[in-house]
Amino acid sequence: MKKKFSLIVLLFVFTISCSSVEVKKGDVQIYIYPNELDVGTRSEWGWKEIEKEYSEHEISKITIHHGGVEFKEDKDPVQYLQNLQSWSRVEKNWVDIPYHYMIDLNGKIYEARPLKIPGDTNTEYNPAGHALICVMGDYEIQKISNAQLNSVVNLAAYLANAFDIPPDSIKGHKDYAETLCPGTDLYSYLLSGEIVSRVKTNLSEKVRK
Ligand SMILES: [Zn+2]
Repeated sequence: MKKKFSLIVLLFVFTISCSSVEVKKGDVQIYIYPNELDVGTRSEWGWKEIEKEYSEHEISKITIHHGGVEFKEDKDPVQYLQNLQSWSRVEKNWVDIPYHYMIDLNGKIYEARPLKIPGDTNTEYNPAGHALICVMGDYEIQKISNAQLNSVVNLAAYLANAFDIPPDSIKGHKDYAETLCPGTDLYSYLLSGEIVSRVKTNLSEKVRK
């Protein structure tokens, strides 16, 4: 009798643990971007479906990063994204690329980790609630171009509008953690208030349209 009872309990526990490791797949939301945003979608660059279990979050802020590795003109951004995805999943054991969007040297934007899944970090802050934009390159040693800066502003404005995020909640990684990210040059446009004020202008134009 006792044996039978334990077997039932064991079966019950087994069923519960199986259902809790169920992986959510194929329900990644598709976003329609305005014309001024040059966005390469996940399917365009060969992103692979999420394979691990993940949690979800509500976005309330926008945080800007850089890749932290020098990016030369002849480097292929699509190859970089594919390598970053496999490094993130295999070496770091993360769900995906740690950022939601990546921007290349020409200012082209690429979708990365789905927005509903919180990002990952090697530093001490909790990325839940943050939409993470990463500019490829190292802005301690590189200079951000006008095209890249325009993309940061337009993408941040798009996200601020879509998720009702106050533009003053657009900050840099180093505002939250001990890091050089997003690099002195890119960070200077946050420090001066230029990115936030351009996003505010962009949003007020959206309202007027
Ligand atoms: Zn960062």
